[in-house]
Amino acid sequence: MKTLGLLGGMSWESTAIYYRLLNEIVRERLGGLHSAKLLLWSLDFAEIAERQHKGDWDGAGVLLEEAARKLEAGGAEGLLICTNTMHKLADQVQAAVAMPLIHIADATAVAIGRAGVNRPGLLATRFTMEQDFYKGRLIDKYELHPVVPDEAGRHMVHRVIYDELCQGIVSEVSKAAYIDEIARMRRDDKIDGVIMGCTEITMLIGQQVFDVPVFDTTRIHAEAAVEFALG
Ligand code: GLU
Repeated sequence: MKTLGLLGGMSWESTAIYYRLLNEIVRERLGGLHSAKLLLWSLDFAEIAERQHKGDWDGAGVLLEEAARKLEAGGAEGLLICTNTMHKLADQVQAAVAMPLIHIADATAVAIGRAGVNRPGLLATRFTMEQDFYKGRLIDKYELHPVVPDEAGRHMVHRVIYDELCQGIVSEVSKAAYIDEIARMRRDDKIDGVIMGCTEITMLIGQQVFDVPVFDTTRIHAEAAVEFALG
């Protein structure tokens, strides 16, 4: 089994889910007392979020590059950035290390393609919904047609991620708001699937509340990582 290196803490609420999933999936695959070999570098998310909102992506990139190098020096053989948003810096982080980066959007796109979905709604941070680094990859590399919520929807989805989920707050009101937004996108935008494109959204909603396929990027990324580690 190869050793995984996790860039986590963005936020730690979802990193904790990654840790559990990676171990559970290895146990499902190998049985008994088997568990995932991994190193975790957990950043202080306040320092990252401040840079994101100021647009200081170079500063955030330096922090991620340094952490990735330390993971590699510690023995990591495959790298996970445990957040969709920070894949904005995926190329830069990959360039800093020799180990392969397991890209969350690639793993997600493969799962979407397998499900026969082509026009998924994308719920994520504003950065992921509005910038090109994530949607562009789905469009150019996988010929998918991701759809994002309207301005009011994007505002609500982003706010819930930073003000609630990343701070451990799971609210029924926000769950209903996410479900309503998806219902609206089903009706108005004819989406045929839902990408939970932020690693904390799995704390709030899941497949059980929708009638179209839901792509939980946290689980999909963890599954791809175990595939790499055991493959
Ligand atoms: N974990 C979230 C994501 O998957 C949001 C926090 C962040 O900006 O990293 O995008």
